[in-house]
Amino acid sequence: MDFAFTQEQQLVSDMVSAFARDVLLPKYAHWDRTGELPRDQFLKMSEIGLLGLRVPEGHGGQNLDAVTAGIAMEAAARGDFNCCYAILIACFAGELLGRHGEEAVQSEWLPAMALGEKIICTCLTEPQSGSDAAGIRTRAVRDGDDYLISGEKASITLVTAGDAGIVFAKTAPDAGARGVTAFLVPFDLPGVTRSVYSDLGSRGIARGSLFLDEVRVPSRNRIGDEGGGFSKVMQAFDYTRALIGLMCIGAAQASMDETVGYLKDRRSFGQPLPHYQGVSFPIADWAAKLEMARWLCFRTLWLRDQNLPHTAEAAMCKMQCPDIAVGAIHECLLLHGHYGYTKDYAHEQRLRDVIGQQIADGTTQIQKLIVAREIFGRNFV
Ligand SMILES: Cc1cc2nc3c(=O)[nH]c(=O)nc-3n(C[C@H](O)[C@H](O)[C@H](O)COP(=O)(O)OP(=O)(O)OC[C@H]3O[C@@H](n4cnc5c(N)ncnc54)[C@H](O)[C@@H]3O)c2cc1C
Repeated sequence: MDFAFTQEQQLVSDMVSAFARDVLLPKYAHWDRTGELPRDQFLKMSEIGLLGLRVPEGHGGQNLDAVTAGIAMEAAARGDFNCCYAILIACFAGELLGRHGEEAVQSEWLPAMALGEKIICTCLTEPQSGSDAAGIRTRAVRDGDDYLISGEKASITLVTAGDAGIVFAKTAPDAGARGVTAFLVPFDLPGVTRSVYSDLGSRGIARGSLFLDEVRVPSRNRIGDEGGGFSKVMQAFDYTRALIGLMCIGAAQASMDETVGYLKDRRSFGQPLPHYQGVSFPIADWAAKLEMARWLCFRTLWLRDQNLPHTAEAAMCKMQCPDIAVGAIHECLLLHGHYGYTKDYAHEQRLRDVIGQQIADGTTQIQKLIVAREIFGRNFV
């Protein structure tokens, strides 16, 4: 066993940490207050390679190993949790398109995405089915060399800012999960409309709905085989769930670090606050939980890099990390006393933002289902 980062990984960690501190963190609240899209930040992130982490080198990316992508994700999340969505969806699209897309579609979309010029959303959820992802009703019907896609997607992050989406649709409606196919759908095609939600958090990267009315998509935009969409999205989730884990840990660690500094400076009853175990023990507890969670994520990503099974581990990351991060940030907010309840400190925003990840990419209950299924086998769960 070797828990040390390589020299290259340490360089990535140092570079992204400095970027998060100097560029991302100072504007984290701005996007929340204004609801503006952090487009400038995405461009700056692309300049240091953060949007091409999993894009093949021939298409303008770095194609870094999964562990290094996780290191970058955690470091960036200490600055701006929401900007990390751009990394997350770029990793998702980079995996799917980079591995299974047609060359012409890859060369049109991947370099532009890695440069921060194009945003490719993930479009799976529908109004009637989120957890039951195989229950989607969006239809893709073959029409000569094209497909006609109709349906409604719900809860799509960055949908109004997006340039295209990886849209999951049924090509064989009666075949359950085996009837799901993935397509790259540009949002400027006739028949595409979008609407935006008003959310608790993550306001700068607003979610919304995507409506597809007989949208004509060339068959080359199909990602992989017909009916292969569900297994591909699940394999990609095995990756993004560990990244989300580190994204949540990064946000929580930022709150923890800020809180430790604050507590050292503040006194009550004549003593610095850490003198009291009621103050220092909660910090010790959350530090331990964050450390455990962090290594679970890195081990999951390491398993992925070794091509070893990691579905259960990825689900464990998603099951534990957002909950731990929400708990830690909440504690940090409380340890700031009344100041923690103001918008002068980042904890209230981090709390609102991180809660979204207790739901997104599969809720905690669904992750438990996956872990239980891996332990007991499909016949039992
Ligand atoms: C911040 C945020 C960003 C998102 N971004 C995207 C995106 O970019 N693209 C996208 O496609 N989707 C996105 N989603 C949607 C997300 O993936 C779904 O909301 C999620 O999968 C849950 O689906 P649902 O909302 O339909 O809840 P439901 O499936 O209706 O579930 C409702 C509740 O019932 C529980 N439940 C359901 N089935 C079971 C079961 N079998 N056993 C136990 N409990 C169960 C769930 O855990 C949940 O608590 C996002 C969501 C959020 C909050």
